[in-house]
Amino acid sequence: MGRGAVVASDAGFVLSLQPSKLGGNQIKIWHKDGSVSGYAHTAASVKLGVWVSEGQVIGRTDLSGNSEAPHVHYTFRLSANASPVDPLSHLPRRNNYPVQGPSLFCLF
Ligand SMILES: [Zn+2]
Repeated sequence: MGRGAVVASDAGFVLSLQPSKLGGNQIKIWHKDGSVSGYAHTAASVKLGVWVSEGQVIGRTDLSGNSEAPHVHYTFRLSANASPVDPLSHLPRRNNYPVQGPSLFCLF
């Protein structure tokens, strides 16, 4: 499985680039409606605080955290401190899946 390009599912600011034990290298993007998307096991190519547009490449999948094959682990929260919700109810209207190329993505 190759390393896919990870793209922002919607425009927003890069809110955090904090690694975690399970998620490894992790990017969070804060969107203008207050929602936050997260991309785990992803080596960032963007800097903290920058604005990214929908569909912009923000990094590539890696093997950081609990990951046996490169994949982006995508999470979606309605606000920064909320629990993740089902992202599929939000992705179709944005029409943009968070990874391009040969990598998988998984939810939650
Ligand atoms: Zn994962």
